[in-house]
Amino acid sequence: MDLFDFADGREGYYGDYGGAFLPEILTTTIEELQACFRECKSDPAFWQEFVELMRSYSGRPTPVTYLENLSNKLGGARIYVKREDLGHTGSHKINNVMGQGLVCKRLGKKRVIAETGAGQHGFATATMAARFGFECKIYMGAVDVARQRPNVFWMENLGATVVAVEDGQRTLKDAINECLRDWVTNMADTHYVLGTACGPHPFPEMVSFFQAIIGREAREQIVAEAGRLPDRVFACVGGGSNAIGIFQGFMDDNVELVGVEAGGHGPGSGLHAARLAYDDASVGVAQGYKTYFLQNDDGNMLETHSIAAGLDYIGINPILVNLWQQERVRFEAATDDAVREALQLTMRTEGLIPALESTHAFAQAIVEAPKMSKDEVILINQSGRGDKDIFTVADAIDDRHWRQFIRDKAAEYGED
Ligand SMILES: *Cc1c(COP(=O)(O)O)cnc(C)c1O
Repeated sequence: MDLFDFADGREGYYGDYGGAFLPEILTTTIEELQACFRECKSDPAFWQEFVELMRSYSGRPTPVTYLENLSNKLGGARIYVKREDLGHTGSHKINNVMGQGLVCKRLGKKRVIAETGAGQHGFATATMAARFGFECKIYMGAVDVARQRPNVFWMENLGATVVAVEDGQRTLKDAINECLRDWVTNMADTHYVLGTACGPHPFPEMVSFFQAIIGREAREQIVAEAGRLPDRVFACVGGGSNAIGIFQGFMDDNVELVGVEAGGHGPGSGLHAARLAYDDASVGVAQGYKTYFLQNDDGNMLETHSIAAGLDYIGINPILVNLWQQERVRFEAATDDAVREALQLTMRTEGLIPALESTHAFAQAIVEAPKMSKDEVILINQSGRGDKDIFTVADAIDDRHWRQFIRDKAAEYGED
């Protein structure tokens, strides 16, 4: 199954979704990017260069690990994990940014810009820019700058300029708008490094292309480790890049693919980011593409919520929407409470600290594994590591000693 053959002539469309809805002025730039990406994609030497870069710089291939303790405890399917947490900067985001760095070099551009919400994509982009010697500007909502200081600190120390966006609700979607404005002004020398498999064509395809490295490795590894293909693959879905990355490895196999969204406080709460698993989202065009958005009847975007900042997004990968409608990918949601419990269970039984985003995939697998037989195999994509979540997790489990530590630290700095 080729997700990108565009046989019906509508390049960049996945069923009815995707496309490139951009201001006229960006047409030349986006066409130049489409052409350059097409060239990279059809050049086997380009993929080899990418794989070699990821090997030497980011420690790929990341392993697949058998979770024997957790499997035994749940008493059902055997559970394996693909370890994207072990890549450089601690998540799968590095795959996409390093790939786009190579594209940027081919384009002959010297400057990169990016939007970021929680700061993980900004952090990865700043890392890539330092390595490639690009000038780098990161757009981030002012509210996010205030609540994600550790990532802002690292971006700035990696040499990037972080712009706190003061428009609108001062969060991710305002940062995206500001980033597009910069691109319009500076397109001659600037590449926009979009962080997930969303936005205008060719971004969904290009990001999927680089993230496919996860699935390509995982298919071979799970067969070697488990002696067979998995029955089900679980991945969390924010924008939908790590999910499409691992799913691509199993597209033509008899393997069930499960995307897990942020259930937040649950269905009907209005406090979640589940676009497909719950029924609050509807089809619209925004931020350069057509997909399901969490929006009201007037097309205004709703406030979203998740314990995992990286899943807290209004739109979703148009390729996944199409696969969902074809019933090739099943969608579920995990609530904040379920995620908190799944994280504690995974830490204690296996000594793994998945990112809160990735823990959504664990939470759903933990629900389903006991209902499966011991002969069956589950593969979970651990999209990132959880060290970054120490503030959120300590709050969520109400750790008294951590709170005292923060108080003491604040006192040490005094009033200045
Ligand atoms: C950003 C992020 C996500 C969500 O992004 P996708 O594009 O849906 O993969 C998931 N996990 C981690 C660790 C992240 O940093």
